[in-house]
Amino acid sequence: MAPRITVLTGAGISTDSGIPDFRGPSGVWTRDPDAEKLFTIANYLADPEIRRRSWLARRSNPAWNAEPNDGHRALVELERRGALRALVTQNIDRLHLRAGSSPELVLELHGNMVEAMCTGCDARSTTAEALERVDAGDHDPRCVDCGAILKTATVMFGENLDPAVLDAAVAAATDCDQLWAVGTTLQVHPAASLCDIALASGAQLIIVNGGETAYDDVAHRVVRDSISLALPLLVSTLLPGG
Ligand code: ZN
Repeated sequence: MAPRITVLTGAGISTDSGIPDFRGPSGVWTRDPDAEKLFTIANYLADPEIRRRSWLARRSNPAWNAEPNDGHRALVELERRGALRALVTQNIDRLHLRAGSSPELVLELHGNMVEAMCTGCDARSTTAEALERVDAGDHDPRCVDCGAILKTATVMFGENLDPAVLDAAVAAATDCDQLWAVGTTLQVHPAASLCDIALASGAQLIIVNGGETAYDDVAHRVVRDSISLALPLLVSTLLPGG
């Protein structure tokens, strides 16, 4: 029987798709306090100029023109072989879904940049639609239903994670045979805590990352290589012939 694998992904799985690590702990935006302000909820809600610049920054995100890579596709294959318990991602780029992973198995810890949401009534729309309005001269597009401020459906700095998503991620880490941590340095929570939870529950921890991570010492296996090369190999060797 195939092992039940929960996969946790971070920015590293998308760098081979041309998306640099913007939001990570050492990411471009995080290290630049002025840029971070654009994605901090209190500033965003308080200042229309911040909102204008935030929408423009969203539009310049390379994810709009990015395509899934072999790393994303390997996780689709993992699901096809019946071994994927859940795919927990810190990425907002939607590349797992675009690669073909099932929406019911993908848990977006930090939300996504493709959808927009109303800060007043929670109504969902699309970021593309909001950006069209920005391009047409409406620099601070408002909810068409209630008139409140719109934002992308991402978790901004200063916002809590969606408790339902977090609970599902914790459940998936508790209830798996293996946790694969892919493309994340495991320096921030809750990503790091999911490793602790999996280990405490008796699961094996397998790390696939280009560089060192905070959990290399306690992992059962560490694969330090290009993710888009290493992940397809890992899937085929662990689940031969699936
Ligand atoms: Zn609204």
